[in-house]
Amino acid sequence: MSTTTYRLGVLEGDGIGPEIVPSAVEIAAVAARAAGVSVDWVPLPLGAAAIESHGTPVPDETKQALAGLDGWYLGPHDSVSYPEPHRSALNPSGTLRKHFQLFANIRPAKSFPGAKAVCDSADLVIVRENTEGFYADRNTFAGTGEFMPTPDTAIMMGIITREATDRVARVAFDLARSRRKKLTIVHKANVLKLTTGMFRTVCQEVAQDYPDVTVDDFHIDAMTVHLVRRAQDFDVIVTENMFGDILSDLAGEISGSLGTAPSINASATTAMAQASHGSAPDIAGQNIANPVAMILSGAMLFEWLGAQHGDEAPAAAAKIIEAGVADAIAGGTATRDLGGNASTTEFTAAVVKTITAAD
Ligand code: ATP
Ligand code: MG
Repeated sequence: MSTTTYRLGVLEGDGIGPEIVPSAVEIAAVAARAAGVSVDWVPLPLGAAAIESHGTPVPDETKQALAGLDGWYLGPHDSVSYPEPHRSALNPSGTLRKHFQLFANIRPAKSFPGAKAVCDSADLVIVRENTEGFYADRNTFAGTGEFMPTPDTAIMMGIITREATDRVARVAFDLARSRRKKLTIVHKANVLKLTTGMFRTVCQEVAQDYPDVTVDDFHIDAMTVHLVRRAQDFDVIVTENMFGDILSDLAGEISGSLGTAPSINASATTAMAQASHGSAPDIAGQNIANPVAMILSGAMLFEWLGAQHGDEAPAAAAKIIEAGVADAIAGGTATRDLGGNASTTEFTAAVVKTITAAD
């Protein structure tokens, strides 16, 4: 039983967000009760609905409220369909990552017993640097990421700093230490020598503080081959922003489906649970989306809260959520993307049932 009450934001977002976020919150609420964790859920406007109600996809009121919370659930956004000027602006998750300096994007890829996958024994975590690299929209030196010196030439610049690499490397090494004590640095130091070369060097320097963790490193292109061939051999992978974005989609698909790939985005003081996939507009509103990625992102948030507050109860709630999902899938309930025929609400009910039965 925990004495703390955790205050968590609920931002449903667009597309399948209003289906998968309530599913994840319902399951988390049941697991939290079972683990003796008290949670205040705080719904906040975001995305297309917020454009309608507040004239902007990320209202100031939402940012201010989030600053006072312990963390939040973020549904996916469909910013490509927003009216201008919102479509061209930085998207909601980019805005929140930048505003709250959520520098570590932690994306596990774990196979589920009973679910079909390219690799059925993968259990790895990608730690992606989230604030710099080649993604112009969130570079520290705003506006310098991409530009056009002439109408026919577009130039992209990447930024790697010692400080941002050091802080994300420490998150990755701490994580490796709590797992199988193996860490792989992914870069392209043979071509992008200064930027990704510095990323590798700083990670190797941080490794000196973690002599119990075994370290290796690969170029990003070679890494895609190793992942497809032997994903089960990897434990924690640390890499820069764009490489991590691409590699985590690959790892998610190899170990199951994009619909099962969770993530959190963390700073030193707060964290945002966010499925790795997008808003899936092609299946929105049909009650067929797989809520697993969002549910497990929530479990990651509870685990993070436990570590952050030195409180065992949220970590116990995380384990209950994970076991509930694994049991439901192993028991034959799965959505279409995993080869089953359960709806979003049927899958959610099955997880709630396994949790309450075990309680
Ligand atoms: P974004 O740029 O927002 O990441 P995207 O172009 O990567 O979007 P997604 O929205 O992730 O695209 O969808 C990719 C495909 O995966 C779509 O066919 C979508 O239906 C499917 N998909 C994504 N998430 C889920 C889910 N939770 N359940 C089932 N299918 C999903
Ligand atoms: Mg995507």
